[in-house]
Amino acid sequence: RNLPRRWTRQISSWRHAIREKDSSVNAFVSISQPQKSSPEHFPLHNVAIAVKDMICTSDMPTTSSSAMLRDFTSPFDATVVSLLREAGADIVGKLNCDEFGMGSLNIHSVHGPVVNPFQSASSSVPWAEREKRSAGGSSGGSAASVAAGMCFAALSTDTGGSTRLPASYCGVVGLKPSYGLISRWGVISFADSLDCVGVMAEDVSATKRVFDILNTYDAKDPTSASPDARQLALKAAAEAWPSSALNDLRIGIPQEYFPLELSDEVLTPVRAAIEGLKARGATIVPVSLPSTPYALSAYYVISSAEASSNMARYDGVQYGLHVPLPPGTGLTNTATMYARTRSVGFGPEVQKRILLGTYALTADAFDNYFLQAQRIRRLIREDFNRVFRVPDVMSSSKTASSDGVDVLIHPSAIRTAPPLDAVDTDGLETYVQDVLTVPASLAGLPALSVPLKTNAHEWPVGVSVVGQWGCDDTVLQVGHFLESIN
Ligand code: GLN
Repeated sequence: RNLPRRWTRQISSWRHAIREKDSSVNAFVSISQPQKSSPEHFPLHNVAIAVKDMICTSDMPTTSSSAMLRDFTSPFDATVVSLLREAGADIVGKLNCDEFGMGSLNIHSVHGPVVNPFQSASSSVPWAEREKRSAGGSSGGSAASVAAGMCFAALSTDTGGSTRLPASYCGVVGLKPSYGLISRWGVISFADSLDCVGVMAEDVSATKRVFDILNTYDAKDPTSASPDARQLALKAAAEAWPSSALNDLRIGIPQEYFPLELSDEVLTPVRAAIEGLKARGATIVPVSLPSTPYALSAYYVISSAEASSNMARYDGVQYGLHVPLPPGTGLTNTATMYARTRSVGFGPEVQKRILLGTYALTADAFDNYFLQAQRIRRLIREDFNRVFRVPDVMSSSKTASSDGVDVLIHPSAIRTAPPLDAVDTDGLETYVQDVLTVPASLAGLPALSVPLKTNAHEWPVGVSVVGQWGCDDTVLQVGHFLESIN
């Protein structure tokens, strides 16, 4: 078969690229010892994969980019890491990210920011002298490692957009699968009801190659989708779009995903892509998802509430950082030790989320914030169910409309990668970057960001394809169509 060159690239050449390039990108926080090559017939033979530093590995530390876990090495591999190793992949290293996945720019990291490695085809400026832009976050290291050609694919996580946003900023493909398809066992939790493991690679076929290995039931993860649910979803998807042909594809364009803040540099290529699909036979349907404007607030309430509970385990006692009480002060109280450990171990963004989440869960605020956010979450799911042609196999009502759409297409981000020296670290502005990605997270739907063709001097732009729960293959197939018109 005629495989793309990177499919046959030797492991040593990926490792060489890491040594050459990573000092200016800062994507890697650990590099593994070279491993014995896997047998040739293994599905991921000769494949170098790097994983976000929130995914546990027994041979390297797992820091979550936090001072709290700086010296933590897990005694076991996450299920996703075991599956990759069993398939013959070489896990070459661990990747920088925002602390515990909280952020959109990969600037909240104890390892320092990741620099977007995108180099425009027309640029003659040497790498070291180029403008430094954000790689996006929280999985900035994952997107940058792929974009710089340092690994075949990278694992990321995605709670509210952490795979799709950096994929868009760095010009690579990023898949957030349906919630529950890929095991989270051994993945450090941020917000359990939203967290997914994502896959990033240079193109859709490489992304699918890795996703197919990971897409399997895991009894160790209580939220892993059952084999029955997976089967039902596959059947429903096949019935809705049996031909898998572009002529039969119905694509919804959600009007709420084209806000005024959307920059022209994003809008122009997204429009061209939609026109391209239409010219090849797809039916384009304008749709409305009216609850979208509330998604961002609901996301930040729910994710922070869950995070505040998850972060409670870092108490300076069981594992991670321990800051003892100052000697000679007579302080013996355990609460003071907790406070000292957590004040030093957590960065400002994590501390902010803990406070926000704890507040949302207090008796006074619970009804107004947490319950309201959960109601919005349900409305968002219902919005999606109303527009899709495929029924929601996870819901008892199984609503679907025969004149519905197979996928939705919209910009992945409202702008291209922001310059690192101009980012506002404290304000709400960075939260706004997630406005287009959080609805699919709240609804647990598969979403794929695919880079679009732009002019040679422009920074990358991604377009997102969102499908019904369990229709990950449909979403990937539409990703292929997008690549073919590019
Ligand atoms: N940027 C969002 C946040 O800060 C999403 C992060 C993520 O998906 N891990 O919460």
